[in-house]
Amino acid sequence: MLQFNAVVLITTNICNLKCRHCYPASGPSRSEAFTYGSNKTMTAQQAEHYIKQIPELKNINQRIHFSGGESTLFAQEFRALVALGKKYGLRVSVTTNCSWAKDQEKADNFIEDLARRGLTRIEISLSVFHQEFLDINYPIRAIRACKKHGLEIILRPIVTKTASIAKTLQAIPPKDLEGTTIAVSKCMPMGRAKSEIPPDEFVYPEIHYGGCQKILNLTIRQDGSVYPCCAGSDITNALRLGNADRESLRDIIARAELDPLLVALTEQGPRYLAELLRETGGKDFLKEKHVNICHLCNDLFIDDEIAKQVRTALADRVGKGLKNFTLVSLPAHSII
Ligand code: SF4
Repeated sequence: MLQFNAVVLITTNICNLKCRHCYPASGPSRSEAFTYGSNKTMTAQQAEHYIKQIPELKNINQRIHFSGGESTLFAQEFRALVALGKKYGLRVSVTTNCSWAKDQEKADNFIEDLARRGLTRIEISLSVFHQEFLDINYPIRAIRACKKHGLEIILRPIVTKTASIAKTLQAIPPKDLEGTTIAVSKCMPMGRAKSEIPPDEFVYPEIHYGGCQKILNLTIRQDGSVYPCCAGSDITNALRLGNADRESLRDIIARAELDPLLVALTEQGPRYLAELLRETGGKDFLKEKHVNICHLCNDLFIDDEIAKQVRTALADRVGKGLKNFTLVSLPAHSII
């Protein structure tokens, strides 16, 4: 059974910054189509249609998380979206670059209002790449405002070899770091980062076996597209699970749970699929360096043709393994 940590709503691709590391390639354009997603923003009516289904879904933690782009840019709509979480009894969190914290008073007022509407946690995007656009005083003011109004604070530094965690956090007074959680992520060479950050900047460990079942978030983009995570599957076609404007989340999840590709990806992991692809004469991605399993996953699924080859290689393997069996699908706990 697939288990999701939260429902992530990507409400917009628009961002006031255009950071070099950003894999969904978000940016300020309001008129052009984006590389991934679209220039459409999620309406409160649309979001409520998704959110009201969550309390009935047992394999999703009762939490919604807003992401983008910068979802707080559309402040009026964002306030309405946060209030929806409270209406349906869900915990609510957001990832933000803190560009709303123009001075301490503005930051305090913004956070006070969101806390009253039900925001319980804030995840602050931080990196030297953000700091090329926005000085560190914005996140510092945001941290102070969140502490004042009792929000849980997660700092999310994105690091490369030279954009280290120490360099990212060095200008934040130690007192402001007290009581926060620091969750570091390695920058992945995907989306804009692939073209704008030199390849030798990324940190490449050995990629091991293992799937991603513990880090899944049911992710819904502003056009209703649904994905198993917000770690890279959300910019592929091949890992799109369905569209929540046309089907219920329950039906989309039920179909995903029966998809051998999703099962193999989340349980065995991208390395297993990369080996199958190599064995069947496809591209050998294991010869290349990868930052983590999600980077390898992106290599396997960002190109529709290669993704099709991966699916075919898996179908062949499943077919061979099962040739002496009869495969039936039954509801859980049923007997025959
Ligand atoms: S391995 Fe792929 S599907 Fe799994 S969390 Fe990473 S990007 Fe998402």
